[in-house]
Amino acid sequence: MDERSRKREDDWFLQNEKKLLEEARKAREKRDAERQAKETAEQRSRLKELHWMKCPKCGHDLKTQALEGIEIDRCTFCEGFFVDAGELELLFLKKGAGQRQSFMRRLLGI
Ligand SMILES: [Zn+2]
Repeated sequence: MDERSRKREDDWFLQNEKKLLEEARKAREKRDAERQAKETAEQRSRLKELHWMKCPKCGHDLKTQALEGIEIDRCTFCEGFFVDAGELELLFLKKGAGQRQSFMRRLLGI
């Protein structure tokens, strides 16, 4: 192999190596993105499965209770309660002061 052919071969490898490395990098980045997306979905699913309708304080089951048009998730053990986003606003926007007081009494069971 003469000097010029060797140089051409080196150039070819240099060019193709760059291209191959670039392709490998893109493929790795694609796999990383897919893994992260998958992991996030799996993680979300796993967390939901573990915590769905469980009390964040004591871990017992929550039970949904309809109270004057508002849904409340109440713990079957410690009696703590939770409302979904927007439910409190609904309560305060739709009910007058007297009704809110009555609602709170019913909520607290007094
Ligand atoms: Zn609880």
